[in-house]
Amino acid sequence: MGKKQLPVRHARESGHPGSRSVREQGLDSRLHGNDKPQKNLNSKLEVHAAARHLLDTVSLKKEWVIRLFEEAKRLKKEGIEGGKLFDDLKGQHAGLLFFEPSTRTKASFHIAATRLGADPVTVEVAFSSVQKGESLEDTVMTLEAMGCHFLVIRHGEALAAEKAARVVKKAHVINAGDGAHEHPTQALLDVFTVAERKALNSNLTFLFLGDIGYSRVTRSNVQLLRTLGVKNILVAGPPSLVPPEEELKNWGVTYVTDLNKALAQADIVHVLRVQLERHGQPLPLTPGSYREAYGLTQERLKKYCKKDVLVFHPGPMNVGVEIDREVADGPNSCVLEQVANGVAIRMAILKTLHASC
Ligand code: ASP
Ligand code: ASP
Repeated sequence: MGKKQLPVRHARESGHPGSRSVREQGLDSRLHGNDKPQKNLNSKLEVHAAARHLLDTVSLKKEWVIRLFEEAKRLKKEGIEGGKLFDDLKGQHAGLLFFEPSTRTKASFHIAATRLGADPVTVEVAFSSVQKGESLEDTVMTLEAMGCHFLVIRHGEALAAEKAARVVKKAHVINAGDGAHEHPTQALLDVFTVAERKALNSNLTFLFLGDIGYSRVTRSNVQLLRTLGVKNILVAGPPSLVPPEEELKNWGVTYVTDLNKALAQADIVHVLRVQLERHGQPLPLTPGSYREAYGLTQERLKKYCKKDVLVFHPGPMNVGVEIDREVADGPNSCVLEQVANGVAIRMAILKTLHASC
């Protein structure tokens, strides 16, 4: 699609104690690692990526996103606020395959499917044949053979959803987070939530704060924002958790070392959790010193941020580390709006993919 895919870090590959920091490692060389998609299959998938499957944000076209947001707005108004139940997906099954823990994404897909008349089928991976060594591909093909029309997949490995999309015949595959690669539905609900409050244009400044290198949420948000024409994107966080300069240039973002200055410029601050499970190395800072150096504290918010700054966090939050309780629950916080909009966006995604073919 001509767009540059942001570098991917394989959680499993780089996530062992003693591995070099994100900065030392460089990520470009690790892009897709041994899982590099086969060219012909990938290009075939890319053509359909925004239509039949939702695998990433890099394949999304602006027009598709705008239509999705319009659909989500309507479903929110009529369905969630107006109490209307829909039957667009009556008789369909949505398989929820979560190989990693989740509260919000899993529950909101469950609710979204139900509100559209579909039946969600949760596969308890911990109690499934996956534990007996069944591969992702075999699990996916099995569920499709039973009649699952949708497969919502969260997995610890980058490109897991893409792997699944290559083996299904008709089902729609939705990436609900794959390793440190992408989390497209989170980015769509985040940007939708921003767009409800502010006009998305080149005057807006976004700041992503924290564990940038391992954040699939940041990667998907940045790609989506760039597709929608947002230009001012800053990142800040511990140097060992931020990708090297030249990679950030590819992302089209600026690394800022003076956090207070970055906060003063930002219209939207995305606070990120330190995703230790994705890197495996101990955090080079204690929770207290992390908060002091990089936390969005109430004091920082009051002293440096714009009065109408919007504060985002994808959850789960480490309250008292990357964000203070007063900030998370305060008037600038959009955290619960993000969660609420997750249902509308996921309804719109299911409906749009269903209508696509
Ligand atoms: N946003 C996360 C999710 O994808 C939060 C959580 O797991 O609780 O579900
Ligand atoms: N819930 C988000 C994710 O699944 C963010 C996080 O885990 O910190 O990537």
